[in-house]
Amino acid sequence: MFSSKEEFKKFFMNRIADKRSQKSLEMAFETLWEMTHEWIQENWNRTNQLYEKEPEKQLYYFSIEFLIGRVLGQNLVNLNFYDVVKEGLDELGLKLSEIEELEDEPGLGNGGLGRLAACFMDSLASLALPGHGYGLRYKGGLFTQHFVNGNQTEQPTKWIKEKNNADARQKDLAVEVAYYGDVQLVVGTAGVKRTIENPVWVKAVPYDLPIVGANGGTINTLRLWQAEVSERPFPSTKDHTVYEHETAKITDRLYPDDSLESGKILRLKQQYLLCSASLQDLLRNPSFPVEEIPENIAIQINDTHPALAIPELMRILIDDHSLGWEQAWDITTRTISYTNHTILTEAMEKWDCHLIQSLLPRIYLIIEEIDLRFKESLQNQGKTVDVLRKLSIIEEGVIKMAVLAVVGSYKVNGVAKLHTNILKKREMKELNEQFPNKFHNKTNGITHRRWLIKANPELSELITETIGARWVKEPERLDELHSFAQNPSFLQDFQAVKKLKKEQLIYHLQRDQNIVVDSASIFDIHIKRFHGYKRQLMNILHIQMLYNRIKHDSTYRPYPRTFFFGGKAAPTYHFAKQVIKMINTIASKVNNDPLVREHLHIVFVENYNVTQAEYLIPAAEVSEQISTASKEASGTGNMKLMMNGALTIGTFDGANVEMFEQVGEENAFVFGMRAEEIMQYEKEKSYNPKEIIEGDPEIAKMMRQLATGKFTDGKINADFIVEQLLEDKDPYFVLKDIHSYAKAHEKILKAYDNPMKWAEMSVKNMAASGIFSSDRTIQQYSDDVWHLSKVPSIH
Ligand SMILES: *Cc1c(COP(=O)(O)O)cnc(C)c1O
Repeated sequence: MFSSKEEFKKFFMNRIADKRSQKSLEMAFETLWEMTHEWIQENWNRTNQLYEKEPEKQLYYFSIEFLIGRVLGQNLVNLNFYDVVKEGLDELGLKLSEIEELEDEPGLGNGGLGRLAACFMDSLASLALPGHGYGLRYKGGLFTQHFVNGNQTEQPTKWIKEKNNADARQKDLAVEVAYYGDVQLVVGTAGVKRTIENPVWVKAVPYDLPIVGANGGTINTLRLWQAEVSERPFPSTKDHTVYEHETAKITDRLYPDDSLESGKILRLKQQYLLCSASLQDLLRNPSFPVEEIPENIAIQINDTHPALAIPELMRILIDDHSLGWEQAWDITTRTISYTNHTILTEAMEKWDCHLIQSLLPRIYLIIEEIDLRFKESLQNQGKTVDVLRKLSIIEEGVIKMAVLAVVGSYKVNGVAKLHTNILKKREMKELNEQFPNKFHNKTNGITHRRWLIKANPELSELITETIGARWVKEPERLDELHSFAQNPSFLQDFQAVKKLKKEQLIYHLQRDQNIVVDSASIFDIHIKRFHGYKRQLMNILHIQMLYNRIKHDSTYRPYPRTFFFGGKAAPTYHFAKQVIKMINTIASKVNNDPLVREHLHIVFVENYNVTQAEYLIPAAEVSEQISTASKEASGTGNMKLMMNGALTIGTFDGANVEMFEQVGEENAFVFGMRAEEIMQYEKEKSYNPKEIIEGDPEIAKMMRQLATGKFTDGKINADFIVEQLLEDKDPYFVLKDIHSYAKAHEKILKAYDNPMKWAEMSVKNMAASGIFSSDRTIQQYSDDVWHLSKVPSIH
């Protein structure tokens, strides 16, 4: 390694000269990539040797998504090489930022859930904790989004480059996963056990990614499985060609979130591949007896997608290691813990019994027995039929994965206080009463190393100049900024950084999407997956409202605002796609109206992903966190924006509640109904949006404009939207909350009138955001659930 810029330059030039004589950007990228990987490899080996030599308990985070974003620049940051490399390259006439842009981010996730897994990996390694990830290596990550006539189109994303493949592939560690087949009883010396005869084998090949902790000390492993055709004999009863076709496809693509499509059997195959391959890998040649798994291994399942780890671990212990049921169950339920991410009924995973029965016959028998034994114990406790039904894992021919996950794990957590309380009091009330000590809260977090240090180096530098560098290691020290929240020179510096980040975003948008934005306007940013509950519809309806006012009230001339949107809709989610079309259509109407465009501008950023988020978030002044209260389990975008000094306009939902608690409601724009009110309305089915429309001329007019298509010049068919608001009774309470939302926006304009006061509020948000670092979240998991010890320093 090198310690100075000069040394780096020498190193780099030698390498580049080794290959070809000219230094194109691509070659610079390759060289830098290789160099970083060599540095990483050294410490990676050392970390692995430590894990072997002094086996301490290890955590494995099972997740169907890891939305890691670009890695080159982040690795340089975590290795503390970023500045040296940047300056060295500058002197060689190369721009590091341009080199970084050559990396395609692997889209191995849909949104928050996958990004959380990535933030957790970063925090585990950075806190020097022995924690690794297991996931899948989808050939085609999440689709690339383009707009054609305002409609979302989806192109496959090919992110894998052959040259990066070779290093990561661990072909000697491949395992075989069994699908289909017949369960046979075998009576051996150790008792009765079961084998699977004539299964269809699929080979799972691991690809390893290094997870570089802060200061490059601990380097953990993210192991991603890829499905391949097995060399094992094929059962004579099945059609070979179909099988080869299918297995080669298991890890071909990432399933879109909220996917409503059929062909979900592939998704089930993915879930089992993840669980079976990872568990086989963990128990390959353990350095401890299987009876001691819980003392040596903790497994966290990220939502229910990896819940098959429960019956799969039971299968391995009983069938492969000849343990009895009770002992296997005791081990399993002391090893696995579960994180719940949603209470939306449609997102609660359920599988048809017959599907699992035919694809995974042995796993089905185990789930059935777990259910049977659990029900028996409940009956013995004298539970009512109603409670029994709610607590059953199998009900009316379907397997309820959330119940399986709760019953089979030792700890269950929600991801923000409000969400955990709703789980305990409503959605999982009976389960919580049955297992009163299982449920706990772990409010989500984000890694400040990506979302502040990497994404906003200018702000990070200002913070360090102001309070010293200790916040980098201890992000809760950001609260030391409080004493500068009224310091005029600091506030001016903050404003200058914000302005710079706005201009950088503008430059980027102009270059990539040919969009021109006024840097003096208020940057109001709404970025997240498109979903009814996230209420992008309410935002665009409010803009329609503003448009009408500007047109018809000549005294209403508000300060210029740019409304940014970013996000993808699941390809089969027609309502969400209609909202995307509506935003694009209204955008061209607003942006082309000579009067209105002086005040309102709409920018819809194509293909929202981690990389785009890193450009958008540092430039944000207003953060839209406007979900229907009770629906957003936590949110993490809200935290990233807060940490970068954006002010939140938001409902009392998810982690917003805790953010407001930290920063004080006077430093945010809180609006809308509370979770209890919403849930009351839902219970009584007493909300009737027609009454609102009839009693409110402004809303009535907007609805007419939509229904007749006049407002949008016939360019959209708003049927889906009108239907949801009327026939479906506005399930996300858009019309109910919209006036309260509009009032909060009025308050924003008033506050923005006083730039120093605005800056003060921004700084208070940054100062209060430290607790939302995922370092805090991970430390809490470790203390309360996993019980890990720090890896000794290798430096
Ligand atoms: C943080 C993040 C999310 C989650 O955003 P929410 O606002 O919490 O839904 C989704 N996608 C990307 C790319 C992110 O970085």
